[in-house]
Amino acid sequence: MLEFDTVPAERRPAEERAALLADPGFGRVFTDHMVTIRYAEGKGWYDARLEPFGPLSLSPATAALHYSQELFEGLKAYALPDGEVGLFRPQANARRLNTTAERLAMPQLPEELFLRAVWTLVEADREWVPTGEGQSLYLRPFMIATDPFLGVRPSSEYLFVVIASPSGSYFAGGAKPVTVWVSQDYSRAAPGGTGAVKAAANYAVSLRAQAQAQEAGCDQTVFLDAVEHRWIEESGSMNLFFVYERDGAPLLVTPPLNGSILPGVTRDSVLTLARHRGWGVEERPYSLEEWRSDAISGALRETFACGTGVVITSIGTARSRDGEFLIGGAAEGPVTSSIRDAIVGIQRGLAEDPFGWSLRRA
Ligand code: PMP
Repeated sequence: MLEFDTVPAERRPAEERAALLADPGFGRVFTDHMVTIRYAEGKGWYDARLEPFGPLSLSPATAALHYSQELFEGLKAYALPDGEVGLFRPQANARRLNTTAERLAMPQLPEELFLRAVWTLVEADREWVPTGEGQSLYLRPFMIATDPFLGVRPSSEYLFVVIASPSGSYFAGGAKPVTVWVSQDYSRAAPGGTGAVKAAANYAVSLRAQAQAQEAGCDQTVFLDAVEHRWIEESGSMNLFFVYERDGAPLLVTPPLNGSILPGVTRDSVLTLARHRGWGVEERPYSLEEWRSDAISGALRETFACGTGVVITSIGTARSRDGEFLIGGAAEGPVTSSIRDAIVGIQRGLAEDPFGWSLRRA
């Protein structure tokens, strides 16, 4: 088994840490350590380290910098009521990382090594797991191609890194319903492309649309399918759910995993929870037109987005070049709140966990 060598970091003083944890925001504060593991063809994974968080030294010819042979993951560690730390479904991230790696011609990382890398960092920087409401330690594993070579081909060497960032609420506005921009000018992913995996390049190509969304006063982008520009796919970093009522119970509609949508861990958790509660669930194509007309008629009760960063957020308004429409009076609905409470309860160890989603270090 590959063991981790430790190069301890100089820890920041408790007062400095407390000041940073009071209002960490998202993705701008980092803990004292990072984990790095190297890979070389013919040798496999080697040189696993826990070391001080700091700059990487890379050749300017590093393949990842030129051709985006780079992937990432995102998951969270939560402070549990008994003082322990829980990770939310980390095995799902380990599996998705390998699906992405395969699509990008990168090496597989054994699930066991992924989990140990993440736990090694969480344990070293345990005091950076914030305990405030809505706070967590966001973990960012990523892998880059490190061959110093400009030819376009899969690299033979890679670097896997895990960094950690204490985080508060994802949106500046907290839990109030957000306004989304439906992008009709730009696509995020096409059939046969990389939309179903966490390729770093997917996010580069979404930024122009996100800038447009912000110019239009919106918090997030919603992407349509790249062929007909008609079907709702997902948001920039979240999957989408449309809430109806059928036979007196909620009915959740979400676009199917058609190859250009990221299979979100939160999406899967919402579906599992809804089925467990006996609610209706439909994974089927859902058009912008259906969204608009059902929101206007009132048949559609709620819309929410879900992802690791935000967990669950209500969508109150959808805006596009053709105008805007409100959903459920632009107030958060009871189904959205109830799903959020259930998932957050499990994440924080405050509710029963019938699915075994909150993982403690074995
Ligand atoms: N879609 C995209 C494009 C994303 O980047 C993310 C964030 N990983 C999600 C959906 C939600 O996935 P998850 O619930 O696993 O965070």
